[in-house]
Amino acid sequence: MIRRRPLLGGMAAALAAGPVAGQPSYDAARRRMVGNIQQLAAAGALGGPRRLSPAVLDALRTVPRHRFVPRDLEGEAYGDTPLPIGHGATISQPFMVAIMTDLLQARSDWKVLEVGTGSGYQAAVLAALGAQVFTIEIVPELARTAEARLAALGYRGVQVRAGDGYKGWPEAAPFDGILVTAGATHVPTPLVEQLKPGGRMVIPVGPSQQLQQLTVVTKDARGAVRTTRLGPVLFVPLQEDARRR
Ligand code: SAH
Repeated sequence: MIRRRPLLGGMAAALAAGPVAGQPSYDAARRRMVGNIQQLAAAGALGGPRRLSPAVLDALRTVPRHRFVPRDLEGEAYGDTPLPIGHGATISQPFMVAIMTDLLQARSDWKVLEVGTGSGYQAAVLAALGAQVFTIEIVPELARTAEARLAALGYRGVQVRAGDGYKGWPEAAPFDGILVTAGATHVPTPLVEQLKPGGRMVIPVGPSQQLQQLTVVTKDARGAVRTTRLGPVLFVPLQEDARRR
């Protein structure tokens, strides 16, 4: 269902109102965004040249990113930049979402934990791949907004919880994949514990307020954990819940 908000600001608001009859659709912009992402990946923008999986590119072609940003930024939704979503959080740069999703190698039969729901965009991309998604956000208002948005857009395979993602989601564990979209000073032990043997975690790791290294953590069938660093990235810090200190 498409709800129409009253037009408050004349032409600019009308253009920003989204896929309503008679108003521009963002399909072409979204296709350009995905083309740009492929070029960046091929040029080796992070950790060497990569060809992104067709399933990930298809997922990115379907998720309406403009519905995950504040209304006044809708027109910028398909540029390759992060955008502020309030509470000090940002929706990640589309290229970063693409590369992290690709690195996770999630399949449609996977159960995935995301830490740092933010706008819900990354969760929607994982759901578009067919994964069952559990996502945790420490700012309750962002969690509520993302949950309502994902439901309104019809993403049924996503469960949202407000809380500290450092601790994971023990009742839903173990997970085939874990994606952390905030910068951690170290790989949280509870998340390693909640990863299935054969599973993968993608997480930015580094000193807080500075660049992190995008890191892939794998757990083999015998439970041995391996860590690979791909290159520098910049994320908002993984916050510490007061009760954890
Ligand atoms: N994946 C998001 C962008 C994430 S921005 C998207 O697609 O829009 C990072 C998010 O992590 C912020 O919303 C921030 O509030 C949240 N966050 C920070 N520390 C956290 C923690 N300990 N547990 C859960 N979420 C956390």
